[in-house]
Amino acid sequence: MTLKRVLIANRGEIAVRVVRACKALGIESVVAVSTADKNSLAPQLADRAVCIGPARVGDSYLNQNALLAAALGTGAEAVHPGYGFLAENPKFVKACEENNLIFVGPKSESVEKMGNKLAAREIANQFGVPVVPGSPRIARFEDAAEVAERIGFPLLFKAAAGGGGRGIRIVNQSSELKNAFQSASAEAEAAFGDNTLYMERYVVSARHIEIQVFGDKDGNGIHLGERDCSMQRRYQKIIEEAPAVMVPDKTREAIRAAAVTLVKGISYHNAGTVEFIYDEERDEFYFLEMNTRIQVEHPVTEMITGIDLVQLQLKIAGGETIPYRQSDIKLSGHAIECRINAESPQNSFHPSPGRITRWDPPQIEGVRLDSHCFEGYVVPPFYDSLLAKLIIHGQDRQDALVKTREALENFKVEGISTNIDFLRFLTNESDFETGHYNTRWVEANIDRFLP
Ligand code: ADP
Ligand code: ADP
Ligand code: MG
Repeated sequence: MTLKRVLIANRGEIAVRVVRACKALGIESVVAVSTADKNSLAPQLADRAVCIGPARVGDSYLNQNALLAAALGTGAEAVHPGYGFLAENPKFVKACEENNLIFVGPKSESVEKMGNKLAAREIANQFGVPVVPGSPRIARFEDAAEVAERIGFPLLFKAAAGGGGRGIRIVNQSSELKNAFQSASAEAEAAFGDNTLYMERYVVSARHIEIQVFGDKDGNGIHLGERDCSMQRRYQKIIEEAPAVMVPDKTREAIRAAAVTLVKGISYHNAGTVEFIYDEERDEFYFLEMNTRIQVEHPVTEMITGIDLVQLQLKIAGGETIPYRQSDIKLSGHAIECRINAESPQNSFHPSPGRITRWDPPQIEGVRLDSHCFEGYVVPPFYDSLLAKLIIHGQDRQDALVKTREALENFKVEGISTNIDFLRFLTNESDFETGHYNTRWVEANIDRFLP
């Protein structure tokens, strides 16, 4: 069975990305838009657009009833959730299932199981996948002191429902426990409506390594290699690359195998990402979380595998099995992705919405741009600040790096502030050139960019 019509329950670059995949497969696309997005790119490219409510996300992109009504009312048989918003909300996935709508993603049980990080840690444990030494739920900060004694400092408070780097606080010594607990708990409540926290040992010299996986209805499970997303600011990714650098091949294979064990173990269906922390000093890796959706940085994997991951998601949702065996997956060259955001590094990285008066991306071979922006587009103040993803494929890492620098040099945006200068700084650093960076590199070096 091939899908005929899909509702896209998202906005921005990922809505455009899904529309393109639908077109390539001959599937009709219907984009759900808020009033603030009526004139954006995705509804212009799609076969149809349906307004689901006002700008505020609670009234539109998080409004389950409006989205279900949009899907049913337009005769869509499936819903693609993109990332963020309702992509990992088990209630929404269940509601789709109950309305006979195919959710382009895993079954609601999988989203439920892996959506809560505490529950996911348990499952990883059960399949012999190592997790970061940590705690169960910490209900009161008084309980934290005891756990801190056991796992040692530095440590992190993390939100069980967390995502997008929110609800995470580092604690260096016991005097900081109370404040960190309270602010993590408040942020988690505000961002996810769930203030459940737990603790993990903080891996000081860490690389973020994640594995792209797929599963299907016959219980097949494969990986498509890893991505290194260690260039981060405040636990949020800025630059991603594939394959990972500076990880010994033996460890790389062990991480990939652990991810596949998990996918098969939970009979996972469709695309997912298993995230790990790699401890450089100990040459050990630990499960962090599983994202049960397409990831922002999926294009770097597409560049080195030659496989369109969103098309594959749609095919599997339509009932197909994975058309590859593990041995069919061949990785070629190196890919780097830079996240271009509407934000002002000079002004504490504050969002910078407004009208784009010049949008002049680089025209260079081997450079791909995933974006919903154009000259004259007004970036609304209500949503994520991601404007574009600049994706570069090279024969090897050095080739990709040279092209990345050239592309960033030739990317001109006016009317709003962007982080392009910051990305130029990062990619010109010798530590980036040699691959010697970890998740704390930005924090340790930002003073040289912003004196
Ligand atoms: P990725 O893991 O794909 O790199 P990010 O962590 O950057 O994704 O998140 C992508 C988008 O999804 C961001 O807008 C982020 O705020 C949002 N997001 C991620 N996880 C959640 C969640 N659990 N709840 C709500 N929004 C989320
Ligand atoms: P989110 O759901 O917000 O993406 P993650 O658990 O994936 O949360 O963690 C986000 C980032 O925080 C990681 O990529 C890493 O940089 C950092 N981090 C998380 N847990 C640890 C840890 N135990 N030690 C060191 N860094 C960590
Ligand atoms: Mg994560």
